[in-house]
Amino acid sequence: MGGGSERGGAERVARVARARIGGAWHEDVVVALGSDAGLRLAPEADRDALARLPIALLPPLTDAHVHLGLAEPAAGPVGRALDLGWDPAALPGIAAAHAAVAPALDVRWAGALLTAPGGYPSRSGWAPSEAVHEVAGAQEAAAAVAAQVAAGASAIKVALHADAGPVLDDLALVAIVAAARIAGLPVAAHVQGEGQAERAIDRGVRILAHAPWTERLDDALVARAAERTAWITTLAMHVRDGDDAALATAVDNVARFARAGGAVLHGTDLGNGTGRLGVEPDEVAALLAAGLGASGAVDALTGAGLEPLLAWPARTATALPPEVSDDEAVLAALPEARAVRADDLARTATPSDDDAATSTPEEPR
Ligand SMILES: [Zn+2]
Repeated sequence: MGGGSERGGAERVARVARARIGGAWHEDVVVALGSDAGLRLAPEADRDALARLPIALLPPLTDAHVHLGLAEPAAGPVGRALDLGWDPAALPGIAAAHAAVAPALDVRWAGALLTAPGGYPSRSGWAPSEAVHEVAGAQEAAAAVAAQVAAGASAIKVALHADAGPVLDDLALVAIVAAARIAGLPVAAHVQGEGQAERAIDRGVRILAHAPWTERLDDALVARAAERTAWITTLAMHVRDGDDAALATAVDNVARFARAGGAVLHGTDLGNGTGRLGVEPDEVAALLAAGLGASGAVDALTGAGLEPLLAWPARTATALPPEVSDDEAVLAALPEARAVRADDLARTATPSDDDAATSTPEEPR
């Protein structure tokens, strides 16, 4: 299921100085990468035959909210990105253009944004008309979802922005959620304007594309949200906008959502305010301000909560300097992070070559 730029390729094993697997740190371990099983510990049998790579390896830094059509392709720290709204016909080419420059970037997408006729983002200026799929009512929901599925979508994106035009009514929203569920895909929603977060949370949306900032959600709603949804943070956009009130509201909502056990996902809304895939210091600072702690922040940054929702195993990873041995150190070393593929590990993990133990992995092709 799903298109994206997911590429085949054999699973590789490598011996690394350190690895963060399932949230726990391991020293001098053999890991496997490149299969549907994701990044995981591998049998230690081959260990003595493998040169130890001088890297600390984590699941891929993940940006769960990008618009790659608005971004310049570049290799960097991010190994996994979810495009939440673009022309579905253009996405395969865009993903290929990014893969040509950043081969360790694993891309999936939602296709076009489903919205009410004339609704956001029709007149927003950033979205080409092909990135918007208008749904006039529940009777059009199944076809709208099917069009994105045919285009290789891994999720369905809806816009519920009450401050920028008409929004989908409840019947249409529920019909979209039902059609997506039948297709095995989660629905992600842009919620903005009073009451829209509650509508999404109570009608089967699984992912909020932005941490809600329009209003403070009450604790009962936050508790329901934590059970039912994952939230993509995009907190730095409020810093960029200089909107302290929005930032404070969003951080407060995220703090209570995380305390209630909700899955927090790192995302930037790449293309709207930022032009290059990466991790912004302001986003990390906001995650910490929301009380996630270093471990919660690294979980969010590595998209742990996204994997079950999209059945999206870690086929890439992010490498850091070998001295990185805990989650605080990960946050400090983010400027040195770079995404790697299984093949990148294999090319450097030549058996029993003493020189290899001190060399650094090559840049991705
Ligand atoms: Zn967006």
